[in-house]
Amino acid sequence: MRPQLKGLSWERDGERLRLVYDPRDQFLLSDPDGSVAKLLALLSEGGRTIGELADVLSADVAEVRAAVTALDAHGLLEDGDRVGGLTAYEAERYCSNLAFFESFASLDRSRVDLQRRLRESHVLVLGTGGLNSTVIQHLAGLGVGRVTLVDRDRVEPRNFARQYLYRWADLGDRKVSRAAEWVRAFDPAIEVETIDASIDGPEQLVELVGRLRPDAVAVGVDQPDAVDLWVNQACVRHGVPYVRAGVLVTTGGVWSVDPGTSACRACIPADPVDLTAYADPDDSTRNAISAMRLYLSRPRDNRGIGPALGLLGSYAAFELLRYLTRLEPPAHAGRPLVLDFAGGCAANQPDEWQRNPDCTVCGGR
Ligand SMILES: [Zn+2]
Repeated sequence: MRPQLKGLSWERDGERLRLVYDPRDQFLLSDPDGSVAKLLALLSEGGRTIGELADVLSADVAEVRAAVTALDAHGLLEDGDRVGGLTAYEAERYCSNLAFFESFASLDRSRVDLQRRLRESHVLVLGTGGLNSTVIQHLAGLGVGRVTLVDRDRVEPRNFARQYLYRWADLGDRKVSRAAEWVRAFDPAIEVETIDASIDGPEQLVELVGRLRPDAVAVGVDQPDAVDLWVNQACVRHGVPYVRAGVLVTTGGVWSVDPGTSACRACIPADPVDLTAYADPDDSTRNAISAMRLYLSRPRDNRGIGPALGLLGSYAAFELLRYLTRLEPPAHAGRPLVLDFAGGCAANQPDEWQRNPDCTVCGGR
């Protein structure tokens, strides 16, 4: 291991050093004799082991190790031995990813390790329509190594309000074929498979997820109504996280399930208008359920305009990024993010699903 300082600046402030990596944080380190500044200068050059740093500083190895550990705990170091291995093309191709990942890197995992995890990842994409056409583009941009695309539809004029993967010349073509063609043209290094099929039942998904063993599933399928529960059953069974998003009139939602950690979709009532699921509903619960029942009693239009689905797709892709790299814990696992498209796109997370120990899908696991 060769500890290396991240790209940060420092200055002397009396007997202290002020270190800034991200302007939202700063670190003030006591350095009356200048030894910390010397260590920082050497770490900034990189290329030295802890023993070599101690030699140059004529310091005790244990002292240097303690200082390095403290700097790492503040997220200021990366292991120089783990930041190489990319070709010049890859370093340029992923330059902004790598710069972003530097913030999440440490001596244990470098920015290159995080990029490598993406490159070794496989995402199963259910539906290549409104939501996932944005997700697919983000996965490709991030450099996810393998995607399997599932859809049964053809490209129609109605798609053009929000599905920018497709072009006028694609009208009438199978969506999975055109979506795969887009990914291959964007980055030939990404492995793409297509499954031109509808989603017909839970057994089909249990088989598919079990056979493919993806690292995560992106869910962009609305029909039939039970599809969420089918995906949930398959993913929880095989321990595969999934991310889902959708629009309800002027509200958007993004949520995910982290099997074995978060509540699952089956932990909460499947039927949003089933009052019997509530032991003693108060007035506001009755009113909310009545409003939903009335809304669901009429035919639903697809109101997902491009900017709304683009936002949701971006949130969903970011959540997938968390699952694939674990650069931070999933943000929406069993805790939906709600976007108000009639209120400045304000985002909040009002409810956390409670894990149900009697859940027939995840209970007891
Ligand atoms: Zn559950």
